[in-house]
Amino acid sequence: MKFDDYSIAPEIKRNLESLGFKKPTDIQFKSIPPILKGEDVLAIAQTGTGKTAAFAIPVVSMLYERKTSRRSEGIKCLVMVPTRELALQIAGVFEQIARHLNLKVFCVYGGVEQGPQIQQLEAGIDILIATPGRMFDLVSQGYIRLQRVEVLILDEADHMLDLGFIKDIQDLMKFLPRKRQTLFFSATINEKIKKLAYSLVHNAIRIQISPKDPVAKNIDHSVVMVGMDDKRFFLERLIKEHADSKILVFVRTKIRAERVLKALARVGIPSETIHGDKEQKDRLQVLNQFRTGAVKVLIATDISARGIDIPNVDYVVNYDLPEQPENYVHRVGRTGRGTQKGQAFSFCSPEEKPILDEIEQFLTKPITVVALDKDTYEETVDTSAEASFDLKALMKEAEEFVMSRKKKKKK
Ligand code: ADP
Ligand code: MG
Repeated sequence: MKFDDYSIAPEIKRNLESLGFKKPTDIQFKSIPPILKGEDVLAIAQTGTGKTAAFAIPVVSMLYERKTSRRSEGIKCLVMVPTRELALQIAGVFEQIARHLNLKVFCVYGGVEQGPQIQQLEAGIDILIATPGRMFDLVSQGYIRLQRVEVLILDEADHMLDLGFIKDIQDLMKFLPRKRQTLFFSATINEKIKKLAYSLVHNAIRIQISPKDPVAKNIDHSVVMVGMDDKRFFLERLIKEHADSKILVFVRTKIRAERVLKALARVGIPSETIHGDKEQKDRLQVLNQFRTGAVKVLIATDISARGIDIPNVDYVVNYDLPEQPENYVHRVGRTGRGTQKGQAFSFCSPEEKPILDEIEQFLTKPITVVALDKDTYEETVDTSAEASFDLKALMKEAEEFVMSRKKKKKK
């Protein structure tokens, strides 16, 4: 099957060609036809399998061909996503697929000024990608009109329907026309959320690819048993042994992210952090530096675990195991995108063993354990540059002490 075989506008096919998309991925193959037919879809497919284009291609095609209402009457497609970074990324994909088609794509998210967003909205938008908070602000102020929405998409659907977001999504439904198409996309879902998803739509939903193994097959992932306090030595070793690699490190909290950054700095490894306490412009800047490779090591909390598509991430390291088992799948899924291969290591300390058990239950299979003999373990700790750092720091302290003594004597 080629994109040529679909009944989509030739302009879209040309855009796909310039993106280097030669044929549809499995999930695209299975979801494009029912979406084009106007059906509601719940699509589950592994990370990195092209879910964005699986909804963007048919939606762009429908909006381009239908031209049902005027742009000034309100937006026609609304995509809800959990983070600002993801909103921008998805807007980028829509823009590429809709090039030269006279469809306006825009995204709104919090953490930046409203003014410029309002200006764009006033000019008229066809496809809007949004995080809930800012969108509701703009809806209540009358800048976003939802009564013409033809398609609603929840990307990272299980997350959008879970505790933190469900109320927002339920509120949103009240603003939308009853007659609309609803699409849910995610790499993971559980029975409870699936039921909830069904309850939000009127027609039957079609369930797509639901793989036995939620971790994509091009990701090689394993776990290393290390003591909590030794984790930094193992991270140091991994980074130094793969000096040219792009490495994404996940930690449990913002504080730990900053702590790992400092520990790496002590041993001469530059890195950056990304988490919810950072200003929006800094978050975007760091992510772009990581994208271009100017930053090789990025330390992140789970806010970056969902959906973010960065090419050539060689390694994902779970410095701490994720507390939500499904986040294991999303975190390791930041590597091995598309046809690329990726590798993921998880550091598991004795106190994290129950979390590992839960993750393995979620995956329905054990994760390979990297066998570390005692010598390798000790060598990793002993060869850390931190020892020489400590020595240097001590010498500096001694020097300062001597200097201050000399000064005192002169007086
Ligand atoms: P998912 O949402 O399933 O995790 P994305 O939509 O972010 O995955 O896509 C993952 C990567 O695959 C992106 O870099 C995208 O450009 C690429 N991709 C998507 N569809 C195709 C295709 N048909 N051919 C080649 N590459 C594709
Ligand atoms: Mg995605």
